[in-house]
Amino acid sequence: MTPNRRALLHAGVSATATLASLALAGPSRGPADGPFASAASNCNPEACAAAGEDFGHIIHKQPRAVFRPTTIPGIAGILRWAAEQGLTVAARGQGHSIYGRVMTEGGIVIDLGALATIHRIEPDRVVVDAGATWHAVLEATLAKGLVPPVLTNYLGLSVGGTLAIGGIGGSSSRHGLLTDKAIELDVVTGEGRQLTCSPTSNAELYDAVRAGLAQCAIITRATLRLVRAPERVRRFQLSYPDLPSLTADQRRVLAEARFDQLQGAVVPEAAGGWRYLLEAGVFHDGDSHPDDEALLAGLSDRRGSAVVTDFAFRDDANAFAKLEALLRANGQWFNPHPWLLVFLRGSNALEIASEVVAGMKSEDIGPFGRITCYPMITDECRTPLVRLPDERIVFVFNLIRIPVSADKTNAERLVAQNRELYDRIRGAGGVLYPASAFPMSSQDWADHFGVQWPLLRDAKRRHDPGNHLTPGYNLL
Ligand SMILES: Cc1cc2nc3c(=O)[nH]c(=O)nc-3n(C[C@H](O)[C@H](O)[C@H](O)COP(=O)(O)OP(=O)(O)OC[C@H]3O[C@@H](n4cnc5c(N)ncnc54)[C@H](O)[C@@H]3O)c2cc1C
Repeated sequence: MTPNRRALLHAGVSATATLASLALAGPSRGPADGPFASAASNCNPEACAAAGEDFGHIIHKQPRAVFRPTTIPGIAGILRWAAEQGLTVAARGQGHSIYGRVMTEGGIVIDLGALATIHRIEPDRVVVDAGATWHAVLEATLAKGLVPPVLTNYLGLSVGGTLAIGGIGGSSSRHGLLTDKAIELDVVTGEGRQLTCSPTSNAELYDAVRAGLAQCAIITRATLRLVRAPERVRRFQLSYPDLPSLTADQRRVLAEARFDQLQGAVVPEAAGGWRYLLEAGVFHDGDSHPDDEALLAGLSDRRGSAVVTDFAFRDDANAFAKLEALLRANGQWFNPHPWLLVFLRGSNALEIASEVVAGMKSEDIGPFGRITCYPMITDECRTPLVRLPDERIVFVFNLIRIPVSADKTNAERLVAQNRELYDRIRGAGGVLYPASAFPMSSQDWADHFGVQWPLLRDAKRRHDPGNHLTPGYNLL
């Protein structure tokens, strides 16, 4: 074994990872004898090209190297080395960012895909490596009759990548975000320190890491809340003639807590125009069916076109996988995705959403895209860095654009449109969900985080004083 391979092993980057999975893009600029620098001889252009892309397919950056560590001390070693070299570092989960926030030009990408073990499942919690997908977490916990109380609609996201942003799903309308369900986090700070944080230990770091856009630390392991798994989900899709009638019924069923999950969307009609859909689910055990009539009583939907289905919980949670397969097959998964994700104030959501929909062409959303629109009660949203309008009811409002073509000029036009819409929405008290495609300045981020900006800025200065971590947001 060469001294450098031994050093890498000692640093927690296994020999296997070094040879098979540790890819470096180019000749080292660091000390020639450093173990990480020497691994540059294992240059893997494919890994670097993949790390220079994300799901957005709008921004492209060429990293200098991609590391795929298999241990937490390995991550710490890479971060310390990168800090010494003055290199920027971006953690990569599943790469579903949409505007280059998972990339670094000329820096180091740490691919967490090999750190995906589900360590322990207890009656109320699961301990999982941050590189695991929600799909893997769900499979493991369902086997014990348990589930996270909130799941993202798409389970192909990584635990760490989601906790770095927030994590919204069908149950968020009443139960908050995934960051609210993280009991404890193991992290490696920008300086390469391994720390555990929770509400009672390193609490300031815990608050800065959850939805902290990966600015202070890389999450390596998470302890997440679990609840008893429902057996089945009765799913309701109700159609409305317009946005006022949709949002009125959404508000009503939310206030009356009729459903366990509540979402909804404005979707393009094949023949032109829009369809307005309320989408909701009720959990049940399969023995006694929910009372459909009572659940839908008094609602003003076009009852003749209501679709009521019943799924095993697992199948319902995996529903997005069918759309993913379709989009992969027709190529649209690989097109640019200039999404805009925001929260609207409940008090003016109808006005702002109507204005945006009225100005939107269906081709700017795409036949398989949608404008997600549904209310959420914020009582359970307690993550300081998840910024929300200061009202009890807010509306999730997302332009999920799936263009039919890969046309770059069109994508740039939609990115510019996102910026205009964001300014209008922000002016009306709306707030960004930071998985959106348009450039943000440091001042924009300071405005976005508002009263919580000092929390993030000061934690970043303390834990990543060299400002190495996650340059894709352009935060400082
Ligand atoms: C098809 C699709 C469906 C989506 N559905 C939902 C949804 O239902 N609900 C929802 O809330 N969001 C959703 N999103 C947005 C999604 O939450 C974010 O894009 C999320 O960050 C992606 O997770 P990822 O593992 O792909 O992260 P990546 O793109 O790999 O990383 C995202 C950010 O987190 C950082 N990061 C990655 N891993 C870590 C880590 N271990 N520690 C610290 N930082 C890390 C990265 O550096 C980057 O800045 C969806 C996105 C797509 C493309």
